[in-house]
Amino acid sequence: MTADRIKISEPPEDIRNNIENCWEKLVSQVGSCTKCALHSERTQPVLGEGSRNSCVMFVGEAPGADEDKEGKPFIGKAGKLLTKIFEAAGIDRKEVYITNVVKCRPPDNRTPVIEEMLACSKYLETQIALINPDIIVCLGSTPTKWFLKSTEGITKLRGKWFKWRGIDLMPMFHPSYLLRNQSRKPGSPKEVTWKDIQEIKRYLDVCRNRKDGS
Ligand code: URA
Ligand code: SF4
Repeated sequence: MTADRIKISEPPEDIRNNIENCWEKLVSQVGSCTKCALHSERTQPVLGEGSRNSCVMFVGEAPGADEDKEGKPFIGKAGKLLTKIFEAAGIDRKEVYITNVVKCRPPDNRTPVIEEMLACSKYLETQIALINPDIIVCLGSTPTKWFLKSTEGITKLRGKWFKWRGIDLMPMFHPSYLLRNQSRKPGSPKEVTWKDIQEIKRYLDVCRNRKDGS
């Protein structure tokens, strides 16, 4: 972990207004996007939720049934567990930004295919450019593959820090994987995820202090 990234914390007002305009454009483009086949069965796209000024972005795979219905990411069973993990680590969900690799729900919650991920890439890249986070956390193997282009499995990659375009990035297990693996024994997915989120919280505090102090 290296909290060494130099970041402009508060852009001047005219740039802030431009950033606001970019968000408006992004919301409207995603709202009416038909760039891949997923548009035909969605109720609505789910762009993301949380603080657009956050030091950290959490990126999952794709909206599920509840997210598709409500238009918000991670609000179903897995999302509730993610919120609990945040709370246990002292992270306020409203303070972070949460999104997914693809913005529309794949039928039967299947993994998005490469064409869908590529079609949707520009939106995630734009979100990252606008938020300019210090940390990106990948939830599960789909975002980990999208960012790191690695064939290595999530079990090997989780809990390690990587650099993505100068941003510190850590993969974690996806909360739905934790729902299927309830053991809390040493080395279990739940136990190592608890370590990972605490590590992220420590780094988040460093970034926050730097932002407040600059
Ligand atoms: N799983 C995800 O990857 N993203 C969501 O938003 C919900 C469940
Ligand atoms: Fe557009 Fe992305 Fe939805 Fe595909 S998944 S229709 S690219 S917003």
